[in-house]
Amino acid sequence: MEKRGHHITRKTFQRLLVGITALACMLPLLGSGTFQSREAQILVLQDELSPGSPISVILVIPTPQPPQYKAGDMLPLQALLSSSEKRPIQKAPFFYTDQIQLAGQDYILAMAILVVPNTYEEKNIYLDVQFEKAASIASSFFAGLNLPQTHNFPVSPRSFNSETIALGPENTDIKTKPDPQKNKEAAELWKLLTSTDAGLFNTAGFTAPVDSPRRTSYFGDRRVYQYTDGSSERSIHGGIDFGVPRGTPVRASAPGLVRMARFRIVTGNTVIIQHAPGLYSLYYHMDSLSVTEGDLVQTGTELGKSGSTGLSTGPHLHWEFRIQGEFADPDLMVQTAPLDKERIISKITEKLGKTDRSTEGR
Ligand SMILES: [Zn+2]
Repeated sequence: MEKRGHHITRKTFQRLLVGITALACMLPLLGSGTFQSREAQILVLQDELSPGSPISVILVIPTPQPPQYKAGDMLPLQALLSSSEKRPIQKAPFFYTDQIQLAGQDYILAMAILVVPNTYEEKNIYLDVQFEKAASIASSFFAGLNLPQTHNFPVSPRSFNSETIALGPENTDIKTKPDPQKNKEAAELWKLLTSTDAGLFNTAGFTAPVDSPRRTSYFGDRRVYQYTDGSSERSIHGGIDFGVPRGTPVRASAPGLVRMARFRIVTGNTVIIQHAPGLYSLYYHMDSLSVTEGDLVQTGTELGKSGSTGLSTGPHLHWEFRIQGEFADPDLMVQTAPLDKERIISKITEKLGKTDRSTEGR
């Protein structure tokens, strides 16, 4: 009986869906004359994407009366990345960044930060924008807002280095010995790196944490760890290693909020800074720390001295970026400045300013 009831319900539901879809198809026609529909424009800051590239998605939303938001406030919108088979890759919430005026019209700017995974091998990547909870949208500032269609971006192929690292007894233990404290620390780290707490602290670029040009490992290196018992394990290096002597000052890459500053078994003395919701820079294996959790730092603030604590085969600084939990290439973070307000506004003016003028001319 239950089963039959379920079937009837589903059929009714399907009919309803057909009805709703038909209605939804008619809405744009009605909207063109009757309602004041608002179209959100979308743009991506980066001109080229490759594995490890940050993706700054900016929504430009026309608004008659700008609502009161602070930079870094979370909005009920999300960006979704998927592959050609609609396989979901990543999602990121939008946060409020700024208000601008273009050709006499007010807009608010919303931003979401994503990254092309360094294991991504397809030629294209797909971007969608969605409301988070449809029910809460109806009565909000976002009511009547039309979101852009799916966008498709080419992804340039990229190859990575391979390296084999033989670990001594101590480092083998760190990697292989079961340890509840290590598991607890891994869970805490993952929880932090996948959190998207409100707060935008950087609206400019990123810089390297040490002056040294000497690098001992690169972003995306395919590593094989060889253990003392003859077994081995594959892993991917998520950051850049700078071969600096112990005691070198380590400096913050950009303004941010210190979310972690403590010793961890695998990464030694560790600092993690939030720069935007879901965007973090990480500094590992330091000898000492000079900041504490909750500190606000500026570009160049000393975080501590470099060292060789945790799983490390010699003095170096490991520098890493995470976006929605995924590794982002530190060099591309510096080059493409994904949070740089000036770059974003000049790109909007260049793209949408032209559209506005052509509309005026009609
Ligand atoms: Zn490293």
